[in-house]
Amino acid sequence: ALPVVYVITPTFARPVQKAELTRLSQTFMLVQNLHWIIVEDSKQKTALVSNLLKNSNLNYTHLINMTPPQWKLKQKEQRWRKPRGVTQRNAGLTWLRESKKPAVDRGVVYFADDDNTYTVQILNEMRYTRKASVWPVGLVGGLMVEKPNIDPDTGRVSSWNSAWRPERKFPIDMAGFAINLRILLEKPSVKFSYQVERGYLETDILSQVTTPEELEPLADNCTKVLVWHTRSQNPNLEAENRLARKSLPPSN
Ligand code: UDP
Ligand code: MN
Repeated sequence: ALPVVYVITPTFARPVQKAELTRLSQTFMLVQNLHWIIVEDSKQKTALVSNLLKNSNLNYTHLINMTPPQWKLKQKEQRWRKPRGVTQRNAGLTWLRESKKPAVDRGVVYFADDDNTYTVQILNEMRYTRKASVWPVGLVGGLMVEKPNIDPDTGRVSSWNSAWRPERKFPIDMAGFAINLRILLEKPSVKFSYQVERGYLETDILSQVTTPEELEPLADNCTKVLVWHTRSQNPNLEAENRLARKSLPPSN
């Protein structure tokens, strides 16, 4: 059978959530043997996410995991102040370790934030990852494309074009790599940590499982952009707020 693509997605309630998850789920529906592990940053499973999953026809696991209060971004706080999605991704990893066996289950794990844009192609390519694979990410790090450079002779990553914190060992976005499932099952200590400098989540986790030399380049030797670090702006809901004072808040 095809190796499974396990996609771990942290998500939280806000006006654009249903639109983001709809875009994601309708991409994932086009991929065979994909298992969506969606982790809500909330106290309880919400009806919005439960219904979206139920109606999607996807293989999924619906988890909840609250960001510890001291790590939760405040309303007006700039987002780079605190890393986001850390405990949710770890909850997804914990679920995999409790549910899957390295001798039986073959697959790859991908950390897909709910606001990015993913192609079917990259999801299909990453499933054959032996250890850890990498590829370019569009619209991130102050660049149109942030990417590893591949040495044509060796087929290995020789350098990176990253402009933001290029001194990182793996100067790459969360959307730009995937890790083999067995590796994560065999090394149960591998997880995301708050105890890292800003921008070091990716370097921290990749350092625990591989080296830059071992990375497997995908997307035509990292020449194609197959994922984008898109971000939705908060919609103007000024009129809703005026109405809300008179009646119940509208729901999705
Ligand atoms: N996220 C979350 N709780 C929060 C903020 C973000 O679960 O309080 C999720 C969000 O839905 C996304 C991931 O964490 O899937 C990364 O967040 P974001 O897209 O804001 O990060 P950025 O794109 O700025 O790195
Ligand atoms: Mn994002």
